[in-house]
Amino acid sequence: AAKEQGKSRYARYTEAMDTCAVEHARLGAELRRALAAGELFLLYQPVVALPDGELRGVEALVRWRHPERGMVSPAQFIPVAERNGMIVEIGAWVLREACRQMADWRRRYGAAPLSRMAVNVSARQLREPEFAQAVADVLEETGLAPEDLLLEITETAVFDGGLALETVRAVRELGVGVALDDFGTGHSSLGLLRTCPVDALKVDKLFVDGVTGTAEQSAIAASLAQIARALRLRIVAEGVETSAQARRLYQLGYRLAQGFHFARPLPAERIDGMLAARAGHGPEALEPPALAS
Ligand code: C2E
Ligand code: MG
Ligand code: MG
Ligand code: MG
Repeated sequence: AAKEQGKSRYARYTEAMDTCAVEHARLGAELRRALAAGELFLLYQPVVALPDGELRGVEALVRWRHPERGMVSPAQFIPVAERNGMIVEIGAWVLREACRQMADWRRRYGAAPLSRMAVNVSARQLREPEFAQAVADVLEETGLAPEDLLLEITETAVFDGGLALETVRAVRELGVGVALDDFGTGHSSLGLLRTCPVDALKVDKLFVDGVTGTAEQSAIAASLAQIARALRLRIVAEGVETSAQARRLYQLGYRLAQGFHFARPLPAERIDGMLAARAGHGPEALEPPALAS
């Protein structure tokens, strides 16, 4: 009987996997069309200074407005795009679009307050031998300075060294910044700091969630702030959702943060509004005004 049960469970399992594989194949094929049809677009999430919540930078986050499915999350389609290779084309489009936007903001509003445009780069892109050259070409084409760009990579993309690590070195040689995204959730996070030259750490929400908890729960976020200081790395707390978390992060030594408490990912026009307001000719400011209360 147990065997029977096991068998049917197995059958259900493969069925579910099939559906998943078919779904992935369909999404993958549609992605090709989506890019050409202009269904992908970027939102920009503010990176702010602690404790005042002032705009310091933005992270470009891709979105897919599908004609029938509505909004498809990058958490759904980026893994599919990695598997079928479309990520290379999508990533190239994201990079060009983000750099074009940042160069435009630079021209219209000057250097302050936006210090950097952060762009996510997948493992597959880092293994492309021409990636660093492609970055150099986009900078040239858009007129963006290399130090205005920050590429976010994951630990898993570089932990086994090889071509991805060479790519990281090559883009840093261009003067482009590199951040380790979702820091602390991958393999060998600390070991990586010895071998992979980066400028910044983005501490995963997982650890930020703990900062208002017990000493044990906040210990990792606290230690990472100390490590970053000792290694002279910039450190950004991701996924900050409450003012209590923001306040605590500041006490722990964090000076940069990102999260729904400060701002969600926003259309470019909303960032425009903030920049214009700051330049003194527009109504929009970044809300909420952080820790003032
Ligand atoms: P990520 O790079 O770690 O980006 C942060 C994600 O956390 C974003 O999700 C953002 O909307 C979300 N987030 C920000 N603040 C908060 C918060 O306070 N609370 C919560 N619960 N979430 C918050 P999103 O935009 O859905 O992106 C998910 C992931 O998809 C990204 O994680 C990144 O790994 C990937 N991704 C997004 N855009 C791109 C892209 O252009 N290229 C590549 N390769 N990956 C991308
Ligand atoms: Mg990121
Ligand atoms: Mg992240
Ligand atoms: Mg994340």
